[in-house]
Amino acid sequence: MITWNNPQSVRAPLIAVIGLILIAGFAATNLISYTMSKKSVRETLINNELPLTSNNIYSEIQHDLLRPVFVSSLMANDTFVKDWLTHGEVDEARMIRYLDEIRKKYGVFTSFLVSETTRKYYHFSGISQIVSEDDPRDTWYFRVRDMAGEHELNVDFNAEQGNALTIFINHKIMDDDGRFLAATGVGLDFKTVAKIVDRYKDHFGRHVYFIDEAGRVMVRSDGATVREADITTAPGISTIAKAVLSADHGFFEYERGGETLLVSTRAIPDLKWRVLVEQRESDALASIRKSILTNFAVGVAVIGLTLLVVAYAVNRFHSRLELMATTDKLTGIGNRSVFDLSLGQAVKLFKRDGYGFSVILFDIDHFKRINDTLGHIEGDRVIRDLAETVQGLIRESDLLCRWGGEEFIILAHDCDLAPAAAKAEGIRRAIETAQLVGASALAPLTVSLGVTEIRPGDTADTVLKRADGALYEAKSNGRNQTRQA
Ligand code: GH3
Ligand code: MG
Ligand code: MG
Repeated sequence: MITWNNPQSVRAPLIAVIGLILIAGFAATNLISYTMSKKSVRETLINNELPLTSNNIYSEIQHDLLRPVFVSSLMANDTFVKDWLTHGEVDEARMIRYLDEIRKKYGVFTSFLVSETTRKYYHFSGISQIVSEDDPRDTWYFRVRDMAGEHELNVDFNAEQGNALTIFINHKIMDDDGRFLAATGVGLDFKTVAKIVDRYKDHFGRHVYFIDEAGRVMVRSDGATVREADITTAPGISTIAKAVLSADHGFFEYERGGETLLVSTRAIPDLKWRVLVEQRESDALASIRKSILTNFAVGVAVIGLTLLVVAYAVNRFHSRLELMATTDKLTGIGNRSVFDLSLGQAVKLFKRDGYGFSVILFDIDHFKRINDTLGHIEGDRVIRDLAETVQGLIRESDLLCRWGGEEFIILAHDCDLAPAAAKAEGIRRAIETAQLVGASALAPLTVSLGVTEIRPGDTADTVLKRADGALYEAKSNGRNQTRQA
């Protein structure tokens, strides 16, 4: 019955429910969009970006190797070289100078020639050794001598230059009769490879590895996930090592240290190597994670703002309802339910603490005539003016309410019967002289009043009944008077 007295009980759950719905909906859409973006980022990586990177690296290396292969072939077919070899290798300094010129002119790391007759190893700065079938480091020479093709690529340590890892292009030199005269060629250092590795790491946050046929890591970018020497035994990547080493190209995935790593590979047959391009999944997802975070912040702000607006609207609406439920529309004073509530409260207080009060019930005399003569609009005006007049006569602590059509009631707190009756008389006289209907034939407008005070054993009903009885007496006794119960 009195829900409007405890509005918090309605409003808080309402706002909580709206908030929950908004948060749930927002979280769901965010989650779905994250899952979708994650899927599409992964797919792009797997199907396009990673394979493209390994293909790019492959063609860059192919391109970088083309020139040295050409230079080696040039040396192998040089008539000076052939003549020098077939004429007893006189003036070794000339050969050394030739090798040095080749090196400088073509910007290669090293240049060399090993003669079949003398087994001397000439390179751009001198003669370093005599190659021997017994030395395992020289097996390359005998392989080149016996190979079917004209040239090969070989990755090896360069004993002449501080054991730097070098890509050698080894080329056979044959005389006109097809006899093997020497092996010659140039070597490239790893700057090219290192350059590629760094570039891809810096630009794309992708790590690049070069591994040999057995899975040994030959080169890797700084900070690469796999730090071990061999992918077949390194944690995580060892699970895919076998598959990587048996495929020409492909896509693989492994876990290490709680991270998912996506790997694309491609074989470089000339080097007998594979290039591995690796992307940490979390790095690839960083940007969408950031946008999800931004979304989240915006969402929280929007939800907060929405709830504020809703709370404000609900509060306003509620206050309006409250006003409408408690106020009489015509006069702006309290209505019957407000009076009932206050009277109930006052009765309780009397029972507990003995605080007395009185009730004055009054009714306009012959109001029907006013309506009939002056019309309803004027009747309304009279009711309104009368309420205003009476409101001006009572204490602020007294409560004036509209009881019904042209009946009013006053709850006078802390007021015994005698002063209440005096107050009622004051009201009666004031209305009689207030000229509420002007100088019409119906003037003066008067009221009849019934007054009573609370008594022990009373309920709200008995109090009202007594007041009503007193009012009835005033009416039947000729109107325009006050009667006490
Ligand atoms: P009595 O002296 O016995 O009280 O005579 P009365 O004519 O005032 O009594 P009755 O109760 O018969 O008539 C009251 C009239 O008041 C009837 C009703 O149409 C009118 N009335 C009730 N509420 C309103 C209102 O809000 N506006 C107007 N204009 N008239 C109203
Ligand atoms: Mg009346
Ligand atoms: Mg009446």
